[in-house]
Amino acid sequence: VGAPSEQWREYQGAPTGTDIECEGWRQEAALRMLNNNLDPEVAEKPEELVVYGGTGRAARSWDAYDAILAELRELGDTETLLVQSGKPVGRFETHERAPRVLIANSNLVGKWDDWDHFHELEAKGLIMYGQMTAGSWAYIGTQGIVQGTYETLAALAREHYPDSDGLRGKIVVTGGLGGMGGAQPLAVTMNHGVCIAAEVDERRIDRRIETEYLQEKTDDLDEAIERATAAAENGEPYSVGVHVNAADMLEGLLERGFVPDVVTDQTSAHDELAGYYPAGYTVAEADALRESDPETYVEESLDTMARHVGAILELQERGAVAFEYGNNIRGQVEDHREMDDAFDFPGFVPAYVRPLFCQGKGPFRWAALSGDPADIHRTDEAVRELFPEKESLHRWIELAQEQVSFQGLPSRVCWLGYATEDGLTVRARFALRINELVAEGEISAPVVVTRDHLDAGSVASPNRETEAMQDGSDAVADWPVLNALLNCAAGADIVSVHDGGGVGIGNSLHTNNHVVLDGTDLAAETARRVFTTDPGMGVIRHADAGYDEAVDRAEADDVAVPMRDR
Ligand code: NAD
Repeated sequence: VGAPSEQWREYQGAPTGTDIECEGWRQEAALRMLNNNLDPEVAEKPEELVVYGGTGRAARSWDAYDAILAELRELGDTETLLVQSGKPVGRFETHERAPRVLIANSNLVGKWDDWDHFHELEAKGLIMYGQMTAGSWAYIGTQGIVQGTYETLAALAREHYPDSDGLRGKIVVTGGLGGMGGAQPLAVTMNHGVCIAAEVDERRIDRRIETEYLQEKTDDLDEAIERATAAAENGEPYSVGVHVNAADMLEGLLERGFVPDVVTDQTSAHDELAGYYPAGYTVAEADALRESDPETYVEESLDTMARHVGAILELQERGAVAFEYGNNIRGQVEDHREMDDAFDFPGFVPAYVRPLFCQGKGPFRWAALSGDPADIHRTDEAVRELFPEKESLHRWIELAQEQVSFQGLPSRVCWLGYATEDGLTVRARFALRINELVAEGEISAPVVVTRDHLDAGSVASPNRETEAMQDGSDAVADWPVLNALLNCAAGADIVSVHDGGGVGIGNSLHTNNHVVLDGTDLAAETARRVFTTDPGMGVIRHADAGYDEAVDRAEADDVAVPMRDR
């Protein structure tokens, strides 16, 4: 990727305040969000342009980063910039209501759609892995995933421990404390539970402790078990990072006869070369092996994954609640190690999240372009004022204010959905109110509203978001393509389409959008359209697949679903 850009060194994150470098706020928002993704507080390895999720990058090279900034500064209010795998490739006159930036990352033609072809093209400098929000400039740090992780664990607790106070007294064992996985300990303690998390890279453990996502660390598994058990017995929330390979840790638990209540994992298993660490090496040794002998690395990495999945299955057999947390570790060992029983534990979407998707609900989020936390606090107030009846949302805002530190631009994530009132969806009502607050000057600069690619109607990913669809449509990728086209038609400010996020190249197709609420009538018009059509795709996608909750939602809100008979 070349040497880090001088501009990036000067920025050290998103520019803030009310003076802008670009011709308008819609372009400025793109420039700030790209730099926010690469804020050293936000990105995992910013000097390599890596934001999170293995090698999820924000730009293809440092030259491409500089060129994107130059383009954004020149981009007119009636122009659209095209970004192909992290490199600006064209700029056209379109019109005011069209997107300002269109992005396509890591997409390959079906037959060539695998890591081998991807790596060949990457070595030639022709493609970049965009993960999900890395290449679409919508990553907001570990805070972006924490509510999703919190809600997933809350749903798990409701299902398996209906008489408990969330996860109080329960021990959750997991692995991976990276950009996303790092949210797990905090999400467990927010649900009052206890978390033991394996992580091979001590710097990542330290980073989670510094940002208060994790409480303590140790190299000693016995000590971790002892402290966790004591906390669970006392009903106290507690989290500990164990500096160890996750596969070794789970086997260590089995050897000791220790069965946690819940077992899952968020190591970057979707990428066997650059994401997952094989057992038997320190991080430095493994990094050296990756450089000197990538083939051996991949074989050892997949061997460790097979042991890792074997241990999860054995813990499940002994009574733990097991689920895969969206890193495709089951698919990896089924495909490469012929483990027939790899899918004998469920993925988190069919297990806990799909009912939310049927309502068009997903990880909606926004960032204050001013950089002023007071602006986000004003948006928190707006959520409370607009939705007085949504108690769990209020509890979330309270918890987030108390426990989630901002990284980079102050931001908030809230799972909001479709349900309409006076013809406006929940997402649209929120966005229109924020736009008014910007217009009235109660919020000091525009707010950009975006979402994860992991959303109700924006992704096809048979081992994750669309696993075990009831009509068998798991691998149909027409839906995310329609979603991106619809986002363009509705005039979102940035629209992106990626391959391979979450689960690796060839395993998923997904999209993202941004809308800049700058207080203008045009922003209101765009927000009303985008925040109806985008969550609406979640409702129609699941209604089409025959989910009753989605058909009910469509009927209640007059969403047109042709040819859908109950
Ligand atoms: P990341 O690359 O930033 O972090 C992964 C971490 O796992 C690193 O800290 C690495 O050191 C550690 N690790 C790798 N192999 C290990 C091993 N064998 N034992 C212990 N630690 C190991 O990735 P991330 O952004 O945290 O994402 C993690 C995974 O979760 C990815 O596969 C990603 O696609 C998936 N993901 C899931 C969701 C979700 O909502 N469930 C969302 C985003 C990402």
